[in-house]
Amino acid sequence: MIVEDVRRAETARGWRLSAAVRTKAAPGVTRLYFTVRGGKPDWLPERGDAFLAALLMPAMSLGEELAVDAPVSRRLIRSARTVMEIYSTWWQQFRTIRVVAAETCAAVGGQDAVGLFFTTGVDCFYSLLKDGERRAEPGHQPVTDLLFANFEQHCGPDHDRLVARIGHVAARTGCRAVVVDTNLRFFTDPLAGWEAYHGAALGSVALGLQGLLGRCLIAASDQYRHLPPLGSHPVLDHLWSTECLEIVHDGAEATRTEKVERHLARAELALENLTVCWRGRPDRNCGVCEKCLRTMVAFELAGALHRCRTLPGPLDLDRLRTVAICSEDAQDAMRSMVREARARGRHDIADAAEAALRHQARRSGQGVR
Ligand SMILES: [Zn+2]
Repeated sequence: MIVEDVRRAETARGWRLSAAVRTKAAPGVTRLYFTVRGGKPDWLPERGDAFLAALLMPAMSLGEELAVDAPVSRRLIRSARTVMEIYSTWWQQFRTIRVVAAETCAAVGGQDAVGLFFTTGVDCFYSLLKDGERRAEPGHQPVTDLLFANFEQHCGPDHDRLVARIGHVAARTGCRAVVVDTNLRFFTDPLAGWEAYHGAALGSVALGLQGLLGRCLIAASDQYRHLPPLGSHPVLDHLWSTECLEIVHDGAEATRTEKVERHLARAELALENLTVCWRGRPDRNCGVCEKCLRTMVAFELAGALHRCRTLPGPLDLDRLRTVAICSEDAQDAMRSMVREARARGRHDIADAAEAALRHQARRSGQGVR
């Protein structure tokens, strides 16, 4: 896989960093791009770091050398070896490959801005609210930019409402909202599942914005007590850092329920703007999918479901009993929820969630762990 002609140019939507990508697996050349709406040109240095992060896993999937014809951070290219060791240990379809760059040098730039990837979901709201509480601590570098990466290439009124909601949260917390459009999944979806890949995707967007960011937080979805292989992970995310950009996996000290109890249940901003559901419209919670139900349980356990304006309550336990829980990650989260509900004396919720896990196990022909 060859990455060349790394170029920054102004488009109708904003400044764009792009590169031509060639692979033996498909004929022709396609450009991979990151476009920052309303951004400044110096936010996007003409470097190869973002493309290395974006294309490492796809190249490993194809077993092709990854050659980047642009300057790449020395630290990043060293870390790429460790990333490959982790990927190939966790997922056997990814083979270690050779990674070469036209030039390796220390990255430069990196301002004082601190980014946080923000979707208005539970994990990123927790990291934002926790950051707000820490602002008075000596040496703390507060979040300054809420980053939204439009990986799904959404557009239209629903997407606009979600972006407006992110802008509203940014304004209320003294931050700037930065929206990045990218066609990255066009390259990666055929070669790597999103659960395995999404950390690299976030890393690549942060690396694209290296002229803006000195530090960037990725909100954790799992917790230190239980860390199954996942594309965004405490052993992985920091490996996308360069000499001038520190990438941090944040918030793995708390479960989803603990995040709601500690911060979201007490914050009007979260209660008014929380959006967790990606099943239907991007700006709305459907209230019936596994992720919505799991979030509703967390708020119910925190005694705050009736106060959350964006989650359709009350909790319907019959619906919870039969909800499909397809991914391993979601099943892990549901098991954690069972323990938390029991610990809080809500055996009705724990029983319903266990029934859902049994139901899912029967559907997929497995036993319940
Ligand atoms: Zn939903």
